[in-house]
Parts: sequence; structure tokens; C-alpha cells
Amino acid sequence: MSDEKKVSCFEEPRIRLGVSTCLMGEPVRYDGGHKLDRFLVNTLGEFVEWVPVCPEVEIGLPVPRETLRLVGDPDAPRLVAPASGSDHTERMQTWAHKRLDDLEQVRLHGFVFKKDSPSSGLFRVRVYDANGIPQRTGTGIFAREVVRRFPLLPVEEEGRLHDVALRENFIDRIFVYYRWTCMLEETPTPGALVAFHTAHKLTMMAHSPAHYRDMGPLVAQAGALPWDDLVGRYATLLMEGLQVLASPGKHANVLQHLMGYLKDALSAADKAELLGLIEEYRTGFVPLIVPLTLLKHHLGRHPVPDWVHQQVYLNPYPKELMLRNHV
Ligand code: SF4
Repeated sequence: MSDEKKVSCFEEPRIRLGVSTCLMGEPVRYDGGHKLDRFLVNTLGEFVEWVPVCPEVEIGLPVPRETLRLVGDPDAPRLVAPASGSDHTERMQTWAHKRLDDLEQVRLHGFVFKKDSPSSGLFRVRVYDANGIPQRTGTGIFAREVVRRFPLLPVEEEGRLHDVALRENFIDRIFVYYRWTCMLEETPTPGALVAFHTAHKLTMMAHSPAHYRDMGPLVAQAGALPWDDLVGRYATLLMEGLQVLASPGKHANVLQHLMGYLKDALSAADKAELLGLIEEYRTGFVPLIVPLTLLKHHLGRHPVPDWVHQQVYLNPYPKELMLRNHV
């Protein structure tokens, strides 16, 4: 029997994200080109494993190929090639169901889609009506199936990730979702749920205090409610709440809350300096990293409850991503 110690998924994160293959720089687009996204490959790629999916190539279409578009009912559009009239809807859906079975085994923690694609686009994809007029109301056929199958999975489009607030939000969600699935895999117990909930308190307060309030009574019933029902309801609130964008006002409240633990330890001058930076952050003069760095410096030098150091909010994702330098 091997006495090799199994490495905890908390100690050594193995985050897997689905991604539209063309964003990885693979020449799979209809015109033989790609859409390499350097942030995904060079920056985020340092911390995650990519699982590329190109629906159009994987259903057997060639490169290059004729262009496809969505037509008809925006809620149930057809995937057609206008030049030849070929309809690939059923072929794409049948393949998607099987591919999603495989992805379920892989256990993804998020998915980044290529915008505007009739197969992979997530938001505002053009759907053409009978007169050939496009409405930006659709979702690509494969992207729609992913969201249906994995409703809690953090999903985004590469175009929206150029917005610093959306980027920070998406990456925050990926890492929380990873820790959540890790907890369920390694220690699916009421005690672990309480610890998870405690550690994510300030993260949730920065996103949605209302969701956090609704999660509390569920945690209080851990051990009394059926486990699957409990974690299903908790996970829905967790991931819905995280989709609410954090704001400078909510972050400032969290920072001031943390500062409360230092009220007897800091000098009047230190307090004034920290409060001044929190206010400069709240009013848009400095990024979040500025007051947070000073706060963490003080938290490291003075005795505070363990609860504070357990807060994921203080280290939500690798600092090398530098997301808090821009929000
Ligand atoms: S957008 Fe989707 S279907 Fe189109 S080339 Fe990229 S991965 Fe393939």
C-alpha cells in the first residue's frame, strides 16, 4: 500500500476552466484564424488548466468553413449556414449533450466563451428574423447548453473580461466555486459548511449582504436539513450573490468593519491614515489595493481574532493577477 500523502485540493489548487478553443490561439475559426486572448493564456493561464472546446470543429465542420448564424425564435434559434442553407442545429445539440457528459467528469470550475459566436457566444448574440434583420438577443447553441447543464458554473465572455470590474468578479467567482467544490469533495460535513460560510463572510458582504443574510439560516440548520437539499440551496445563494458586482461602497464598509478589530490597537494617527485611504478608495482616487495593503499590514502586527485571518476576502485569489490594483 502506498503511504504517499494525498494532496488536499485546498493546498494545491487545480482549477479547470472550459474555454472556446480559438481564444487559446488555435486556428479553428471559420476563416482559418484564431482569437488569441493574451490575458487568458499568459496571465490567468498561470493559475488554471484550460479545457478547450470548439463546437463547430468538434461536430466535424472543416477549417475554413462557411459562416453560421442563428435564425428564428431567439429562445430556440436554429444554427444555419446562410450561403448553403445547411442546418446544423440537431447535430450541434446532440454533440453538445455528449460533450457535456464528458465535461461533467472533468469537473470544470468556470467557462470563458468567445463573444458573438452563434455556437459559443453567451450574451447578445445576433439572431436573424425571417426578414434577415438581426436582434442581439441570443445565446450560442453550445453556450446555452452549458448554462442549462451547469447553472451554478461561473461563465463569462472574453470581451467582457476587458472590463476590470467584470474581470475581478469572474475570477472571484471561479476561486469561490473551486473552494466550494473542493469542500464538497473532501469534507462534505456540516462543520465544513460552517467553516466555509464563516471564511466567506466578508467576501459575500462585498458582493451582496442580502444573499449573505439569507444563507445564515440555512447554515444554522446544517445537520437538521437533508444534506443535498441544504448544499443545493446554499450553493444557489452563494453563486447568485457573487454575481452581484462588488462596489467601492460595499468594499469600504468591509474595510471599516475589519478596522473595527484594530480600534484599541491603532494610534490616532494610524487610524486617521487608514480611514483617509479608505475614503480615497471609496471616492475613486486610489484602487482597493491601497487601503487593503495598509489594513493587512496592521492586521499582521496586532492580535485580532482568528476569524479575521480566516477571511478569504483578504486573499481571494493569487495576488499576481493584480485585480485589486484596478478596482
Ligand atoms: S467561437 Fe467557438 S465555434 Fe467559433 S471558432 Fe471559436 S471555439 Fe470554435
